[in-house]
Amino acid sequence: MTFVTRFAPSPTGYLHRGHAFSALTAFQAAGDAGGRFLLRVEDIDATRCRPEYDAALFEDLAWLGLGWEEPIRRQSEHLADYHAAIEALRARGLVYRCFKTRKEIDIGRAPHEPATPYVGAPLPAAEEAERLDRGEAFAWRLSLAAARAALGGFGGLTFVETGMGPDGETGVIQARPETAGDIVLARKDVGVAYHLAVVHDDALQGVTHVIRGQDLFEAAHIQRLLQALLDLPTPTYRHHGLLVGPDGKRYAKRDKAQTLRELREAGMSPQALRAELGF
Ligand code: GLU
Repeated sequence: MTFVTRFAPSPTGYLHRGHAFSALTAFQAAGDAGGRFLLRVEDIDATRCRPEYDAALFEDLAWLGLGWEEPIRRQSEHLADYHAAIEALRARGLVYRCFKTRKEIDIGRAPHEPATPYVGAPLPAAEEAERLDRGEAFAWRLSLAAARAALGGFGGLTFVETGMGPDGETGVIQARPETAGDIVLARKDVGVAYHLAVVHDDALQGVTHVIRGQDLFEAAHIQRLLQALLDLPTPTYRHHGLLVGPDGKRYAKRDKAQTLRELREAGMSPQALRAELGF
């Protein structure tokens, strides 16, 4: 089986050192395995993606010395595919309409606490019809209860981690999708959730190895559930440690000075950056 991996940035900011490390890790792994490296633009969230970040990511990755297969997959061009997948789940009673706002769900939550995982249920038909008539906004949520029933429990949901989760998790991992609650698969402003588009595309593109930062380790637990429900293969995962800056904090899109464009403008060469990152 050919080794296929990808780098899948979202154009919600300029790429920074952390992205460079991730992209180079995947690119090198593909090279070492004599496999394929794909670039995928995850631009489904129109509320956060910007054309200038989109254009910049190609420029920045080429500057870094990366090459990828053309044409690339751009998620915003395939929304109908993701909606069809959600529709298939809906037809099996695995998703339900949720009219609660994030604010309503988070009542009583302190600002520093993580968002409350929400577990709900479909509304009685009459109430739902009434709310739809009134034009109330809703999200499609995946029902953990229905998913558990459909799969006969989550015990069979495992994935292979060849890197490491943030707490040292490695090897065969038992997925715990329940910790995320009933996740949102689609909402009014963002028609498709990231998790759904990722599992759909990884399967469609024949991705055998998902190589990405540890900040996405928890996502693998949810994505493993979606793979089971959509009858898609599970790739091998390799989550890598996150780069930290001199302050000990990991790089983020908000650290403007650490974007690849800033480094380039400051006179850094791609060779120097690659060497600094260990490539
Ligand atoms: N698009 C996601 C991000 O920018 C990464 C998706 C993935 O690698 O699975 O954080």
